[in-house]
Order: sequence, then structure tokens, then C-alpha cells
Amino acid sequence: MSARKTARRLPAAGERIEAIITRLEARFPDAQCSLDFANPLQLLVATILSAQCTDERVNKVTPVLFARYRTAQDFADANPDELAEIIRSTGFYRNKTRSLIGMGRALAERHGGEVPRIMDELTQVPGAGRKTANVVLGNAFGIDEGVVVDTHVKRITHRLGLTHQTDPVKIERDLMALVPRRHWTLLPHLLIHHGRAICQARTPRCEICPVNDLCPFPGAPARPRPAAS
Ligand code: SF4
Repeated sequence: MSARKTARRLPAAGERIEAIITRLEARFPDAQCSLDFANPLQLLVATILSAQCTDERVNKVTPVLFARYRTAQDFADANPDELAEIIRSTGFYRNKTRSLIGMGRALAERHGGEVPRIMDELTQVPGAGRKTANVVLGNAFGIDEGVVVDTHVKRITHRLGLTHQTDPVKIERDLMALVPRRHWTLLPHLLIHHGRAICQARTPRCEICPVNDLCPFPGAPARPRPAAS
């Protein structure tokens, strides 16, 4: 593991978090879910497909998918080979095919074809773990039930000293204790945009970072930068 720079002396995370969110909101006013969807079922499907795949790739596949499969029952009744062929380019397509058909059956049999709005029910649906449930509850229903933790969120919350945990479940727990509930859905979108545009994994652009003075580790990571080509 690479050595880190000595942390700047800054106020505790709880005293910085509101300013961090305010500044990121100002820098990324359009930050929102980047998966295309028109209803909760479509977002659930798109989120299942986004595992190990970019949102951009998922958005290329879903127009064809959603034109062919419109309801939970449609997914329940899907021909596996036909469905797999449509979603093949998202990777892990056999597992995802099983998840989508299982999801369709679970919704049709247990929830009248609707996506449940309750975390414990949603996480019982095949293909939907807590992260997927957080995405759907927050973005399709406007319910702040948890904080989505992906690789950007994990990296940046570490750099900003908002958590010291490495396990996503524990990171989420730290963030839920730290961040006002009304920001639980928004925060990951802000961090994902920040991570793509500025706080990139290999070479964070700290010189243009809107939260530089709130970051204990500007210049992280302490790794050699790749030589300019
Ligand atoms: S100062 Fe650098 S490391 Fe810190 S949040 Fe900004 S871009 Fe990331």
C-alpha cells in the first residue's frame, strides 16, 4: 500500500460535510442518476444491468430491452436466450438474465407486478441487493433510505476523510451517520460526477477542486503519476 501524505489539520468531517455538499452542488448542478428510465421497473432493470458495466453501455441496451419487455410479467415470461442476446453487451449476461427473469417472477407473484417501496422487500427481489435498492428507492421513489456506495464514492469519501472504512456496508453506515438524510440520494451523484471530472482515481485534479481547502489529502493518491505521453 502506498504511503499517504500527512493529513492537513481540518475540522471534523461533521463540520465539513455541509460545505462539501454545497460546493459540489454548485459545481455539478445537474448531478443526477445517469441511467435512463421512465418508471421504477425500468430503473430496477437498468441498475441490475449496471453491475460491472458502465451506465453509458446500459443506456445503449435499454431502449431495445424496454420496447420488448414492458412489465414485470414480460420479464417473468421472457425466453432466456432472447433476453440474454439483448443484454449480452453489458457483461455477465447469463447471470443478469437469470436475475431479470427471477425479478419479473418475484414482482408478478408477490407484489402485483409493482416494484416495492420498502427496503426489506426490495432486497428480497432477485438481482437487487442493498445498493440496487438504494438506487431505486432514492431515484424512482424519492425515498432517502440509504447511501449508494460505488467505487467513486468509496475513493472520494476516503480522500475527504469522511470514513476510514473499506467495506461498502460500513462506509454507508458512516455516511448515514454523517450526512443529513435529505442528501442521502444526492450525495453519491455529486461524488460520482466529482470523481469523473476532478477527483479521478489516478490523477486527481486538485488544483481545480472546489473542495480543495476541505480535503485533508489534496494531491492524493501518493502514487507516482504516469509519464506524460
Ligand atoms: S483536493 Fe484533490 S484529492 Fe481532495 S477531493 Fe479535491 S481532487 Fe480529490
